[in-house]
Amino acid sequence: MDNCIFCKIVRKELPCNKIYEDEDLMAFNDIHPAAPVHFLLIPKLHIDSLAEIQDHHQNLLGKMLLLAPRLAKEQGCDDGFRTIINTGHVGGQEVLHLHFHVIGGRKRLPGMIHHQG
Ligand code: AMP
Ligand code: ZN
Repeated sequence: MDNCIFCKIVRKELPCNKIYEDEDLMAFNDIHPAAPVHFLLIPKLHIDSLAEIQDHHQNLLGKMLLLAPRLAKEQGCDDGFRTIINTGHVGGQEVLHLHFHVIGGRKRLPGMIHHQG
């Protein structure tokens, strides 16, 4: 994926504030943080979004879910955090490379789900 900014970060063509890397995954701080802790966890493999995942991604996705709380704790989220996966246009996804937002800090985050009616 030549023009994908997260693929460019994976290839080290763009800088990032990296907090984790292994052969499959990378995590780095969000450039516009929404809270004191706000990092993105991505697979190195380009997958457009959660809507495009397939059965053979199962191990990769499991690895991401297992890593998210470990990194959150390392970043200082001792009392919870929020994990967000924006998907597609309706989900407000801006970067089309699958990523988990992990957001936290000391204060309780504002509610995100506003019920209709
Ligand atoms: P989303 O709306 O879920 O696609 O979120 C994309 C996120 O990527 C936003 O929170 C951006 O602030 C963040 N972002 C965009 N470019 C970069 C970058 N070069 N380094 C770190 N975070 C980025
Ligand atoms: Zn990509």
